[in-house]
Amino acid sequence: MAVNGVSRIVLLGATGSIGASTIDIVEQTPDAFRIEAVASGRDVAGLAQIARRVGARFAAVRDETLYGALKDALSGSGIEAGAGSAAVVEAALHPADIVVGAISGAAGVEPTYAALAEGRTIALANKECLVCAGAPFMRTAAQMGATILPLDSEHDALWQALGGASPHDVEKLIITASGGPFRTWKRDDIARATREQALKHPNWSMGQKITIDSASMMNKGLELIEAHHLFGVAPDKLDVLVHPQSIVHGLVAFSDGAVTASLYAPDMRVPIAHCLGHPRRLTTNARRLDLAEIASLTFERPDFDRFPALRVAIDALRAGGAMPTVLNAANEIAVEAFLAGRIGFGQIAEIVEEACAEAARDSNLREPATIGEALAVDHIARERRRTVLAGRGGSGKVTFQ
Ligand code: NAD
Ligand code: MG
Repeated sequence: MAVNGVSRIVLLGATGSIGASTIDIVEQTPDAFRIEAVASGRDVAGLAQIARRVGARFAAVRDETLYGALKDALSGSGIEAGAGSAAVVEAALHPADIVVGAISGAAGVEPTYAALAEGRTIALANKECLVCAGAPFMRTAAQMGATILPLDSEHDALWQALGGASPHDVEKLIITASGGPFRTWKRDDIARATREQALKHPNWSMGQKITIDSASMMNKGLELIEAHHLFGVAPDKLDVLVHPQSIVHGLVAFSDGAVTASLYAPDMRVPIAHCLGHPRRLTTNARRLDLAEIASLTFERPDFDRFPALRVAIDALRAGGAMPTVLNAANEIAVEAFLAGRIGFGQIAEIVEEACAEAARDSNLREPATIGEALAVDHIARERRRTVLAGRGGSGKVTFQ
């Protein structure tokens, strides 16, 4: 419960893109929110600066070797420092009303789940949590009466467009994709795209991992899996539309032919404010939508030939079981390898597809029932991909952002 009308926030992934937008919304509404604890991967200077700025009580960095550096950076502030995975979990469990899950990748599973298992309300940006461990997340949320607020823009848009409708009346949930920087490129050119080209998103400024996922359209595949868990909708009721203007984020098609959509400027502060303010609306300076200025909204079907990562992800969603967990792990390793210059852009989808094909031959591919099982599948899939990549001249190093 909010204390004196002020909601206490834990911000996991505070130094990232969603972290920055969340801080912006909180600073615009200081009477409504207070950030109590923050966590990041390894950016000690950024984390300490944020912790001081928002007046957090606890700051945790995932890389345990950075404890001394964080303690030094926080000296004299009275803010408690922590380091290592247990410290990030401690941050997640800090007394709060809302936990913003904005860590990148499956690294967010453990701390975010820890908060959920305590019955906390989670505003979830970190979609990989649901791709890696969707069933345990949703089951625990139901058991604990914990709420997962969809912060990813498409899912926030679906939530808004659903407007409390019965799932029974829904024919399709449709999420949009900008198409990324390679929307109009030829398949061979996409396969040869450089790191710099892939990191140049036309509409959104985001962390590196999601930016690469957007360029390959794996991001949309991860989001379909995310929508499947969040809204409890079967894979064949989910669809993707390419919409280069990124104004319509999600659409709900009802059984009577009616379609509702949720529109806003491509500014993550809109869904963040919606989640934090729920059930009320906050007043913010997030970008306003001027439809006359934009003049035209266009839509296309996705091209699975040029964007094979999307097809591979949809196949994993349909296969179910542990396949999405394997997909996510392999994709994280492939994206890391691409960003490190060890593989080409076209190899990302190939590596993920290879991982899924190997997993399909494994008869023990049932859906992880617990977080422990999901993380074990994730770990094995990562190690296997690292070994395969190392055999091709890559390295199996683990990195934290
Ligand atoms: P980012 O790379 O900018 O930030 C990631 C944050 O996570 C950083 O603070 C980093 O230090 C922290 N982090 C990384 N590894 C960690 C670890 N092991 N333990 C603790 N903290 C760790 O990423 P982002 O763009 O802010 O995205 C965050 C999440 O939100 C992703 O799952 C992404 O898919 C999702 N998302 C992002 C956007 C967007 O516009 N940026 C939109 C929708 C969803
Ligand atoms: Mg999204």
